[in-house]
This record gives sequence, structure tokens and C-alpha cells, in this order.
Amino acid sequence: MNIEKTVRSLELRGFKVSRFATGEQAADYLAQALKGQTVGIGGSKTVEQIGLYDKLEEGKAFWHWKLPGDATYASAASADTYLTGANAISEDGEILNIDGRGNRLAGQLFGHKKVYIVSSVAKICPDFTSALYRARNTAATENALRFPYDTPCKIDGKCHDCRSPQRICNALVVLWGPMMGMEAEVVLIDETLGM
Ligand code: SF4
Repeated sequence: MNIEKTVRSLELRGFKVSRFATGEQAADYLAQALKGQTVGIGGSKTVEQIGLYDKLEEGKAFWHWKLPGDATYASAASADTYLTGANAISEDGEILNIDGRGNRLAGQLFGHKKVYIVSSVAKICPDFTSALYRARNTAATENALRFPYDTPCKIDGKCHDCRSPQRICNALVVLWGPMMGMEAEVVLIDETLGM
């Protein structure tokens, strides 16, 4: 994994990149940067592990992992800023995310002033092919374990591109650069975090 190459590639594509040694430092940075703003948060083990939610201003952060329900999804969708994790990042600076509901994908594409993509350097893969493999066979399969669903990946930990009605992988978004009219910052953390 070539972290320096990945940072250069992300910056060449127009992403701002901030790098931290620990998740705690990243959470402190984000909490400071997000002061005074409303924040929508997509499902992200990394965001959960760094303890960011508890550092955000009360009543300004909308995360369905903390308060499930349609009202939370709606508030997150219209928040000033959106936070998401990444399923994989290629050394060429492509950011991959798979989603079942689509709120996390929509949030990084439209409707906010800025999106933060919070990721461990452990998600970095040499190229697009290996990044897609990681997104499907590591991130998605581990994510499937969180649900009481009947999907084949829960048996052997591999993606079978299943046709289960409970499939959690319904769309893939690859960010090649920040979307027009929306800043995008990648917050890279030198710890192994997330799925
Ligand atoms: S087997 Fe189905 S639910 Fe599991 S990772 Fe693959 S597409 Fe997603």
C-alpha cells in the first residue's frame, strides 16, 4: 500500500486530504471543523470507532445509527455537511462505496456544501480492480454480518453477487473527484479501522 502516492492522486483529482496518526485526532479535527454546522452521517464503522458523534454539537448531528427512523434520514439529507466512510480507495485516488439503501451514496453526491470521507489507510488498494474486490469481498461481506439477513456471504465471507431479496449491495459509487459545487475532503487515519 502506497499511502503517499494515494494522497498525491487524491489531491490531483481535487480532493483535499488531511492525515492523522489516530482516530481520536481525526475526530477532534472534525469536531472543530464542523462547529456551527448541521451534519448528516452515513453508516460508517470508522466514524463510530473514532467516537466522533459524541464530540459533535447536540441537536446538529443526524445519524440513523444513533436515532433510527425516516426523520433522521431526511435531516441528514438536508444537512450542511455530510460524513461518510469509504469501502476502498485506490492508489489512483478513486473512492469506492457500496450501499443498500442509498442514503450514504446520495449524501456524497449532492445536497451538501461539503462532504468528508473518513477512512483508515487500511482501505487503500493498489488499483481499481483490487479496490472493487475489497469493497465487495471485505467491506460488504463484513457489513452483511450486522444484519439478520439471509445472504450467502454470511456463510463463507465471500461475495456471490447474490439475488437475495435481502441483498445489502444495491449500488456502487466511485468518486473520481469532488462533485460540482460541493467540496470534498478525505480524512485519512493511520490506524486500522472500519470494515
Ligand atoms: S453476497 Fe449479496 S449481500 Fe453479500 S456481499 Fe455479495 S451482493 Fe452483497
